[in-house]
Amino acid sequence: MASSMAVPKIIDFGYARYQHQSVSSFMKEGLNPFYLAPEALNGVYSIQSDLFSVGVMLYHLLYGIVPYHTDISKYKTDRNALVSAILDARRHPLKLPNTTMFEMDEQLLNTMAKAMAMDRADRFQSADEFIQAINGELKVESPKPTVDNGATKQVGGGNVLLPKQGNGFADVAGMTALKQQLQSDVIDVIRDHERAKELGISIPNGLLFYGPPGCGKTFFAEKFAEEAGFNYQYVKCSDIASPYIHGGQGKIAKIFDEARQNAPTILFFDEIDAMIKDRSKHNNVSEAGEVNEFLAQLNNCGEDGILVIGATNQPTEIDAAALRAGRLEFKYYIPQPDKETRASIFEINLSKRKCDFGIDYDKLASLTENYISADIKLIVDKAGRRTFRHKLDKITQQVLEEVIAESKPSISMEMIKQHEAIRDQFQGIKTEQPRRKIGFN
Ligand code: ADP
Repeated sequence: MASSMAVPKIIDFGYARYQHQSVSSFMKEGLNPFYLAPEALNGVYSIQSDLFSVGVMLYHLLYGIVPYHTDISKYKTDRNALVSAILDARRHPLKLPNTTMFEMDEQLLNTMAKAMAMDRADRFQSADEFIQAINGELKVESPKPTVDNGATKQVGGGNVLLPKQGNGFADVAGMTALKQQLQSDVIDVIRDHERAKELGISIPNGLLFYGPPGCGKTFFAEKFAEEAGFNYQYVKCSDIASPYIHGGQGKIAKIFDEARQNAPTILFFDEIDAMIKDRSKHNNVSEAGEVNEFLAQLNNCGEDGILVIGATNQPTEIDAAALRAGRLEFKYYIPQPDKETRASIFEINLSKRKCDFGIDYDKLASLTENYISADIKLIVDKAGRRTFRHKLDKITQQVLEEVIAESKPSISMEMIKQHEAIRDQFQGIKTEQPRRKIGFN
């Protein structure tokens, strides 16, 4: 090495720790954010997070700049904006400043990209594995160096959403009490695992979201995973369990195994009533096997860092055993948005687009009484498209009002009333009240 060249030193490996060890007791703020894995930027650390940092170091040593570099000087005081800027930069393909500078073989490039995969499951799982790859003893296939927001892949019969590192709760209008409760009962417990363990606390095993479609059950779960830096796995229950599909029991076990490996994980089971049907109403043998498997997996899964969220429009059809304490024990009715929440959904969706000055969100909310959240998102999309088609450069209040005037709520008041009746019936029959009642409605 020429004497004028800086000698690289590897320091701060004192920060490395196992995932189950406390992360509250060491100073995270001093770390260089470009070196931090996506989940570490959100305060969740594991061996794979450190291996990500080693991948960054390798790139830095080779090219003299950090990978996915972007100007963050303007975000000095705004940590959230800084994290978003870094994560946004990582959604672009990894740039190689000069491919001819070194004799970079395919294996080394693949090794770097694998170390810096956005999804922890795609990275090296141990330092040994990483070293073997560098030594060429372990062949590394060309991985995806970056993932696009919302990219999906098929695993274990369900769709796995790679962790999206977006705005988390900041994208969710309303739902304040639910956000607060999950922050303290789940996110803080995972972050301060050691103290929680001393006090005999783990995250709940499961939650149930129920209510009319299009009001944010899936959306909230995804945003919650972003906020917490958890992996997120979406499972459509009707794809894995029905009288016409065999092997549902094995698929359920596999989904939990994968979630355990990638913990902390939010496992979102959509249409959960299709999988854990009330056995007193249905007596299909294979379906009973699925209910049993699910219940067995659900017991204590919180201790393994898995939080199950079940979603349904039909809570009264779910097997009562699944609703007991220690299983899907917190139940939340996710209602259609009230006026304030509608205004906020308009604002959140419009803030990401070029808009005219002074949009009147309150008025838009008043014009959309009885609309559900999904309808409002659609109105904003249509307004954007109309603005584009008319070759205008900004979405205006007028265009938004025109689109609203041409639309109608996708769910009738009668249907909403039916859901409210189901809610009242369910609240009457459910076996266990939430530990703490929250004023979500
Ligand atoms: P569900 O799972 O209840 O059928 P979704 O979660 O798919 O409904 O919600 C539909 C869409 O409505 C979401 O993709 C999102 O754009 C929007 N949405 C729902 N709830 C909210 C919210 N609280 N804040 C912002 N947007 C929301």
